[in-house]
Amino acid sequence: MIGGRILQYPDPRLRTVAEPVVEVNAAIRSLIREMTGIMYAAGGIGLAATQIDVHKRIVVADISTTRDQLHVLINPVIVDHGGSAALGEGCLSIPDVYARIRRAAWVTLRGLDGHGRRRLLSCDGVLAMCLQHELDHLNGILFIDHLDPKQLEGLAPKSRRQTHALRRAGDN
Ligand code: ZN
Repeated sequence: MIGGRILQYPDPRLRTVAEPVVEVNAAIRSLIREMTGIMYAAGGIGLAATQIDVHKRIVVADISTTRDQLHVLINPVIVDHGGSAALGEGCLSIPDVYARIRRAAWVTLRGLDGHGRRRLLSCDGVLAMCLQHELDHLNGILFIDHLDPKQLEGLAPKSRRQTHALRRAGDN
């Protein structure tokens, strides 16, 4: 089953705060390949290691339709951010729930890439949304945590059209 390895809400393991990666070695590179494969197989735009029950600070993301623009960030930290944007979000760990979440419109992140090299990444739009969503996962935070109780209630049955409109933003 696609996504069978992905923890599903309300699994308490999704609330685990991930530990920093100490060394980018063969085991970490292998884990990144596995995460990338799972993300692509599930049709997601991003995945945090937390979602496959590995509590290390690693995220992968690819918002391209061609699925060849992979971003790997190890020990990511947001060093700068600004603006405000509310895009439709979904989550591979919370199927069939989509909501607009207000986040920073742009972020600058620092971390290591899949080869252990320092990387600084500035982005906006869907990638900025996606990476903020994935960093939240590393801290045990889910996108629905950003909604107030009234908004959460309103999530229940969505019209098909609205769900489709939000779905275009992608699961992560
Ligand atoms: Zn997610």
